[in-house]
Amino acid sequence: MDLRYSEADQEFRARARAWLTANVPVEPRPSHGLASAQFDRDWQRKLFDHGWAGVAWPVEYGGLGLSGLQQVIWYEELARAHAPHHINTMYVAMMHAGPTLIARGTEEQKSFHLPRILSGDAIWCQGFSEPNAGSDLAALKTRGVIDGDDIVVTGAKMWTTDAQHADYQELLVRTDPDSERHKGLTWLICDMKLPGIDIKPIRTMLQDEHVNMVFYDEVRIPLKNAVGAVNQGWSSALATLAFERGLGFIGDQLELYERVCRAIDLARTVRLEDGRLAIDDDGIAQRLASIKAETIAIRSMTLADIAETDRTGLPGPKGSMMKLMVTQTHKALSEIVGEVLGWDFLEFNGDRSAHPWTYDYLWSWVFSISGGTSEIQRENVADRILQLPRAR
Ligand SMILES: Cc1cc2nc3c(=O)[nH]c(=O)nc-3n(C[C@H](O)[C@H](O)[C@H](O)COP(=O)(O)OP(=O)(O)OC[C@H]3O[C@@H](n4cnc5c(N)ncnc54)[C@H](O)[C@@H]3O)c2cc1C
Repeated sequence: MDLRYSEADQEFRARARAWLTANVPVEPRPSHGLASAQFDRDWQRKLFDHGWAGVAWPVEYGGLGLSGLQQVIWYEELARAHAPHHINTMYVAMMHAGPTLIARGTEEQKSFHLPRILSGDAIWCQGFSEPNAGSDLAALKTRGVIDGDDIVVTGAKMWTTDAQHADYQELLVRTDPDSERHKGLTWLICDMKLPGIDIKPIRTMLQDEHVNMVFYDEVRIPLKNAVGAVNQGWSSALATLAFERGLGFIGDQLELYERVCRAIDLARTVRLEDGRLAIDDDGIAQRLASIKAETIAIRSMTLADIAETDRTGLPGPKGSMMKLMVTQTHKALSEIVGEVLGWDFLEFNGDRSAHPWTYDYLWSWVFSISGGTSEIQRENVADRILQLPRAR
């Protein structure tokens, strides 16, 4: 195995770095509302216009057709340049809706949707979870009744991030009323402007309203919007989740390394109650060192997983392992910062830029739930990677 970057990779990194240095927006991203979505669309448009959108996406749909490794190099350079990255309203479109369409979509779906995503014209959201189907996604009840050339959808989805900004949705519905569990589901492309869709925001502990409940009252979606066959949507849903848990968390992972470095700087400046600098406390210093080592190990695993995905075309179950490690490490880091700053730092008024560590702490909890909880990732690791016997 050759562990060095090729000349082409290094040349790509140098070009990306030079372009980002000259083009990263100087104004900060608005934290919420329509202005944040517009900011994300504008940045995506700029990337598209300058030939940086969809690094590993096929050329025929507007991408650059490069390798998964070069995609990661691009994300690394985005993080290094403090550029707006994909943890924004373009996240679902770029990180799992687009990749699912590339892997499972029809030619018509790909040629219509992929260029719109890359150019920032289409924001997507994910309508998988329901009030009684989160970890147990296969229990979902939102129904789709086939009527002529349409599927008529009625039901409710829960925790839909950025539904209020989205143009399209990955919508998972039960189309076979007699089916149970994983059978009889269909993955649909849902136009969020269709009549019968009602979006109700939910206020979270982050003091914002970026997640929503979405209600569907006889929403007519063309049958041709099914991704994968009707009643066979579970397989497409697994592909979506694999993309989400694989490269989908690369941004958090890259940020995590930067956060560890900032936490070490913090420990060098903040004094504990006994007057010592936090970094002079052996326990704190050792835990920070092992967290830093952990983030480096996670990065190596990510690169190995990406090399595998480049070969197979679909990410494997290792994404669950990486998501689990990133979330656990993030939480452990937040605990140390809490000890260093004192737990009063948890008072939060929603101003992320004024209280970055508080936001970070709260986010570490959110992050261990969204995209599948840590318990579910452990189950996936036990089941699909270690192939341990199932508990009765
Ligand atoms: C901020 C945020 C954004 C989200 N965005 C979206 C989105 O855009 N689209 C979308 O579809 N969903 C979204 N989700 C939903 C997310 O995927 C679910 O919240 C998650 O899968 C957990 O489901 P649940 O909330 O129903 O909890 P439950 O499934 O009810 O779980 C409750 C607790 O029980 C534990 N548990 C459940 N089953 C098991 C088991 N078999 N073994 C061990 N422990 C178990 C869980 O780990 C958890 O601790 C989002 C969630 C959050 C918090």
